[in-house]
Amino acid sequence: MRVLLLGGGGREHALALGLAGDPSVEQLIAAPGNPGIASVAELRAVDPCDPAAVAALAVETGVDLVVIGPEAPLVAGVADAVRAKGIPAFGPSAEAARLEGSKAFAKDVMTAAGVPTARAYTCTDAESTARALDEFGAPYVVKNDGLAAGKGVVVTDDRAAALRHAEECGRVVVEEYLAGPEVSLFVVTDGEAAVPLLPAQDFKRVGDGDTGPNTGGMGAYAPLPWAPAGLVDEVMRDVVHPTLAEMARRGTPFAGLLYVGLAITADGPRVIEFNARFGDPETQVVLALLETPLAGLLHAAATGTLAGHPPLSWRDGAAVTVVVAAEGYPAAPRSGDVITGAEVPGVIHAGTRRADDGALLSSGGRVLCATATGADLAAARDAAYALVAGVELAGSHHRTDIASAAVEGRITIPG
Ligand code: AMP
Repeated sequence: MRVLLLGGGGREHALALGLAGDPSVEQLIAAPGNPGIASVAELRAVDPCDPAAVAALAVETGVDLVVIGPEAPLVAGVADAVRAKGIPAFGPSAEAARLEGSKAFAKDVMTAAGVPTARAYTCTDAESTARALDEFGAPYVVKNDGLAAGKGVVVTDDRAAALRHAEECGRVVVEEYLAGPEVSLFVVTDGEAAVPLLPAQDFKRVGDGDTGPNTGGMGAYAPLPWAPAGLVDEVMRDVVHPTLAEMARRGTPFAGLLYVGLAITADGPRVIEFNARFGDPETQVVLALLETPLAGLLHAAATGTLAGHPPLSWRDGAAVTVVVAAEGYPAAPRSGDVITGAEVPGVIHAGTRRADDGALLSSGGRVLCATATGADLAAARDAAYALVAGVELAGSHHRTDIASAAVEGRITIPG
């Protein structure tokens, strides 16, 4: 199989490693890729958000599958353009990607499908926003209606700050606060059949102990030793299948990766958000544990043959990834610093580029994801931090508590 992978972050480096490791893949091409991906794929300098350019590249290279990593190409209609050429694409249509592209649309689908989620109002003016904030009370949750690269959500006890965020965004979803540990569940689907991957947890806040501003994600681990028995089956039954059925009923079936972000509350799992693609950095840990060949799985989802795909197999043990971020991230990340010690197995490239002289430079907020597996969560965590210790990047920072609460049995479900 020949595969074209779109994107150039840590998620895509993890996908590239999975795809290149599938014995059925004879050639892997990535656009635009990054220096880490370059070690397993041929890079092409094509804009992944340009539907015509991507479709032309897919035709030119004669690929059998296009795997779309980030959300922006999906919302731009890249999957539609590739499919219009008769080439299977892993990723939803632009219409179906609205599950991620619009928080209000996602709420509408969840309500119609009877999916358990936070009560919410869509607000476009200060008066209705204030009314919604006061109905739910603190902590206040205000979400930008549009795509905001994981940074459009404000959770705060400060009512004025909540109102300010709403005013800056224009159209927002105000919702009730869901208390409980969070779970990311990835589901591979062809629109009808659906296969869950291992549940994972990520760390959104920049600082240890979940302090400081939200980020794209500072680390992750899988699986979740504290997850209630039957959690995945319950989410498939109460969330995933009703949502897929509702999307199909609307004439916009969702095929690709449905990312279900959940809070495990006293009343059971509640959906915080849907995304239309693999999450970053959870992908790094989930794929590190997946034994089933990745390209075959994604090809089955892209061709409507997932029901006939064999059950997934997983490595024993656990995986942990720790994000090494640039100085100033998330507010004002500095780029262009030299990185050393990063070109070793397990260090996934998220925001790097190659200088003319061959040196590796930082080129984004989240620069590297030190990713390791181990016999158990503690061993995986220690191995991931050993990788972090080998990296040198001036001014960089990382959380020191990734997976610690789970290792120490400190995660509890309310109620
Ligand atoms: P989202 O972009 O919707 O995933 O939101 C980003 C983060 O904000 C989530 O991972 C949660 O930590 C937090 N969040 C979003 N919605 C809620 C909610 N209703 N209750 C509590 N926390 C939330």
